[in-house]
Amino acid sequence: MVEPISWPDVERLIAEASSTEQLKQFRVAWLGKKGWITAQMKELGGLSPELRRVRGAELNTLRNHVATALDAKQALLEDAAEHEKLLRETLDLTLPGRTPVAGLLHPMTRVRRRIEDIALRLGFSLAYGPQVESEWYNFEALNIPKGHPARDMQDTFFVDVPGLVLRTHTSPVQIRSMQDRQGALPVKVFAPGLVYRRDDDATHVPMFQQVEGLWLDRHISLGDLLGTLTEWVGELIGPEVATRFRSSYFPFTEPSVEMDVGCAICRGSGCRICKDTGWVEILGSGMVHPAVLKNGGYDPDQVSGFAFGMGMERVAMRLFGLDDLRLLYQNDLRYLERFQSGGDAV
Ligand SMILES: [Zn+2]
Repeated sequence: MVEPISWPDVERLIAEASSTEQLKQFRVAWLGKKGWITAQMKELGGLSPELRRVRGAELNTLRNHVATALDAKQALLEDAAEHEKLLRETLDLTLPGRTPVAGLLHPMTRVRRRIEDIALRLGFSLAYGPQVESEWYNFEALNIPKGHPARDMQDTFFVDVPGLVLRTHTSPVQIRSMQDRQGALPVKVFAPGLVYRRDDDATHVPMFQQVEGLWLDRHISLGDLLGTLTEWVGELIGPEVATRFRSSYFPFTEPSVEMDVGCAICRGSGCRICKDTGWVEILGSGMVHPAVLKNGGYDPDQVSGFAFGMGMERVAMRLFGLDDLRLLYQNDLRYLERFQSGGDAV
């Protein structure tokens, strides 16, 4: 049996309450399902109608008073708690802000994107091919038959499945792009991607990135090759860069030319990096060999074009002034972060 209560007692108890937890207990004891007022209400049925009316009105008034007083005190205590919390949690506006750690693009990603941007501006589309490639796409289709010395030059990684290799260059994408176009013209693609060779020194890594370019159409000439590559390399490295072409040999192009850019270290006067020539090789290119056109499904009597391939790490070395490109792939942030502001517009 809950103790009988009277309004003055209730009022005093509520006024003295110092926590919302205490108020909750009062609410249960007086107004809850088994609370004192509720119990009194239930007993009204046993009274005479006259008494029931009077007693009922009293109990209603008491219940309303108690509920109102509990709500008011509850609001007071919550306000006080909030106020105290605000005082406790004042902001110190003199503290320095926290700089969020933002991700940074790898220097090679920035170089690749720059290359892709320029390619798209020049009207090329981007093409991609598999990194595990068939020997046919990697060699035969590019006019490098079995036993050809160029196969030895490429230091190929072979895989367990006969007939498959890790592609040694992005050139297989030339053949795949031609096949995709099924004889349609023009074929005008840039193919960036990873390639693999058994090389490892300061200027070679076993996994590196190449970009391949191919432009086929009617009446494409060596003049188009020279003009396009001069424009492209100027966009890539800077319009003031000196360039020159030398005749060369590649099995998949005829004639073949290599493109050099002026040495960035000695500015042409000769140094160790350029082996005292004043020039550094930047890419290999040439007019697509008739055999390669045939393998891609095009008639060499109707169609001509040029192709070129370039190691992207060489471009990174040039743009960022690197002397050992192996460091690019050791994922040492202290090293990589040095190049976030280098390379001018890169
Ligand atoms: Zn030099």
